[in-house]
Amino acid sequence: MPIAIYPGSFDPITNGHLDIAQRAARLFDRLVIGVYDIPAKRLLFTTEERVALSKQAVKERQLGNVEVRAFTGLTVDFAKRIGATVEVRGLRMSADFEREFEMALMNKNLAPDLELVCLMASLNYQFLSSSLLKEVASLGGNIDDLVPKHIAKALVQKYRQGKLQANYPEKETPV
Ligand code: ADP
Repeated sequence: MPIAIYPGSFDPITNGHLDIAQRAARLFDRLVIGVYDIPAKRLLFTTEERVALSKQAVKERQLGNVEVRAFTGLTVDFAKRIGATVEVRGLRMSADFEREFEMALMNKNLAPDLELVCLMASLNYQFLSSSLLKEVASLGGNIDDLVPKHIAKALVQKYRQGKLQANYPEKETPV
């Protein structure tokens, strides 16, 4: 069975991401969650924090064949470096298809041998995104069903630091 990568920003990893990882882990020998070091979006957590939070979540779910690694550069190059022949992505109902399709075609162009496997997001997590999660957390909403405990705690701590209100420039608290 091939090695698969599951790349993303994971800022932070949510139960939606973990659901995809858990299901993909059943399909492959090894699944590497690849945390983009410098994604094209503003981040709340540092790379080290995103990796550490994801590692703890994977450990708690006892996903023995799943590891977490940070990477820089193209996903296709990271896949090649670690010998992965499959890329896993999660698809939510309306939000993801066009963007994923576009990226898939570009990646196919860059690395024709890397196959993409998209798993449909589970019903409970269709409307869960890291950005919405951060918005709710920043406003003090309950996120207990959406992330593991240690991540809810990390979010509370981040927002308590009081520097950022959410990952949206227009919602930043003026300093
Ligand atoms: P990216 O910056 O690449 O979009 P994300 O961390 O936002 O990284 O998402 C990584 C992958 O997980 C993407 O394929 C995304 O569609 C998928 N994903 C995000 N949220 C969910 C969810 N709630 N359920 C299933 N898949 C999800």
